[in-house]
Amino acid sequence: MKRIAPPFDIPPALRSWAEINLSALRHNLAAVRSSIGPSPAILAVVKANAYGHGTAEVARALAPNIEIFGVANLPEAREVIAAGTGRDVMLLSPCLPAERPLTAGLIVTVSSAAEAAAFAACGPVRLNFKIDTGMGRVGAWHDSALDEVGAIVGLPGVTLHSISTHLPSSDEDAGFTLGQLEAFAALAARIRAIVPGVRVHSLNSAGILAFPAHAADIVRAGLVLYGISPLPAIQDRFLPALSWKARVTLVRNLPAGTGISYGRTFLTSRPTRTAVLAAGYADGFPRQLAGRGTCILIGGRRHPVVGRVTMDQVVVDITDGGESIAAGDEAVLIGRQGDEEITAAELAARADTIPWEILTGIQDRVARIYAG
Ligand SMILES: *Cc1c(COP(=O)(O)O)cnc(C)c1O
Repeated sequence: MKRIAPPFDIPPALRSWAEINLSALRHNLAAVRSSIGPSPAILAVVKANAYGHGTAEVARALAPNIEIFGVANLPEAREVIAAGTGRDVMLLSPCLPAERPLTAGLIVTVSSAAEAAAFAACGPVRLNFKIDTGMGRVGAWHDSALDEVGAIVGLPGVTLHSISTHLPSSDEDAGFTLGQLEAFAALAARIRAIVPGVRVHSLNSAGILAFPAHAADIVRAGLVLYGISPLPAIQDRFLPALSWKARVTLVRNLPAGTGISYGRTFLTSRPTRTAVLAAGYADGFPRQLAGRGTCILIGGRRHPVVGRVTMDQVVVDITDGGESIAAGDEAVLIGRQGDEEITAAELAARADTIPWEILTGIQDRVARIYAG
């Protein structure tokens, strides 16, 4: 696929930054739309600083073609509102009792009629009633969902905006997920008979890609909007929106037998040229990446990380093909350089985690720069 590569204007004195390609976000949103067809609304999940991409900029880029934003908590909801898109905002996690009076205007998620009543006592409220069909985290257990809805509809000042469920294994267990989706669809039909206008949603990113026929009224798109497919086989439909870069701060030539970094876990086996980069685990580059074949791109080539990742710095072996690398050069931790690419999924696999954690782990000290 042809890459959209907008120009980024990066100050030479910046040590580490993330380039956020807003046209890639719009491309990914269009890919979600083509997967689910014209009818379902899209809830864009922008929790955790929009998966590390920056809440306000992402919200503004996506707003024209989505209906609702999804966030985890009140401060995130306020950030989305401050971005000025005018779109609805849904809190996806339960609210603390003390937060309930502060949620005016938001769509809040509840797991019981008792929780709904506690919101109603604070004023008029729009609810997303969550039903647990197998996630085991929040929601009313599905057996009791109809009774809970019956009690919710009698509450004064309450509007039942939607009912939803969540999929724990949509990228791993199609049989279990289909069972959930079918049980939820049956329940949704009975709830619609009680509350005709209620909206229905269950799909996260993997669900959107694997079970688009179950899109119902709304889908909740997170990771795919940022250009990472939870199903690696169809990654080429999406464009990663974030590239993470850091500059080389120092180049050195070390003799054979030199220990590199804390614990001296790596010993040079030959005269070795090293580049030191201005990024470490305090920037979100996981310490677990050391000694696992992790590479960084400099000068269009892969160069291995050697020794432990430290808080602010990482050492790269540039002996092979790195003769012309110099302090100030750009290195790519996530993204493309020349014909090479390191994805968040690759880093996640090497660090024994998931791309969600890699992206949301990129810290504030990494400047966000926008284009497109
Ligand atoms: C975070 C979240 C999502 C988005 O999940 P992705 O896998 O990133 O698409 C969807 N629904 C709920 C309830 C969430 O909390």
